[in-house]
Amino acid sequence: MEIGVLALQGDFAEHQAMLEKLGAAVRQVRQPGQLAGLAGLVIPGGESTTMGKLAAAYDLIEPLREFGRMHAVWGTCAGAIFLSRDAGNEQPLLDLMDISVIRNAFGRQVDSFEIDLDVPELKSVDPSGKPYHAVFIRAPLIDSVSGSAKVLASLPDGRIVAARQGHLLATVFHPELTPDDRFHRYFLELVKSRSDH
Ligand code: GLN
Repeated sequence: MEIGVLALQGDFAEHQAMLEKLGAAVRQVRQPGQLAGLAGLVIPGGESTTMGKLAAAYDLIEPLREFGRMHAVWGTCAGAIFLSRDAGNEQPLLDLMDISVIRNAFGRQVDSFEIDLDVPELKSVDPSGKPYHAVFIRAPLIDSVSGSAKVLASLPDGRIVAARQGHLLATVFHPELTPDDRFHRYFLELVKSRSDH
């Protein structure tokens, strides 16, 4: 089972390192042909406008949409924006998940912070249910979820920071930048359950 990391821009190397530590085979994806045979794909954090423009320039938008209709895809931060239907901005989006996002939702002064989150779904990979320490870097917020998309985690004030829609996963924080590997394990389980279909 091979997992792709979209390697156009952003912190794909950190995702790759974490997935490899968990025993997954990882392929960097920069061209449409490199999606062939992958069981799942991670879209990293970075800068979503740049990522979208590069994806368009490399003719990756349609192949990524096609891939995401069938396979597990996880977007973190800029990757979550790229997966969304609406980012309130003219920029290329994959339009795969029924979520709308607000970019840079935490403003300038507090554009980076860390907080413990309650993520009940992670009990499927670690029954302890201990809090998940999340790192936010100029993060977006998930403004709304619709269709079959479900909220996985929220801030104490109720603002949404993680969502799942079937085989699609979006987190606005950066699990690849902390030692806690539960989200990566959660994604690998999702990939596995998807490829059993
Ligand atoms: N602010 C970036 C954007 O809007 C996302 C930041 C990140 O991925 N850490 O695309």
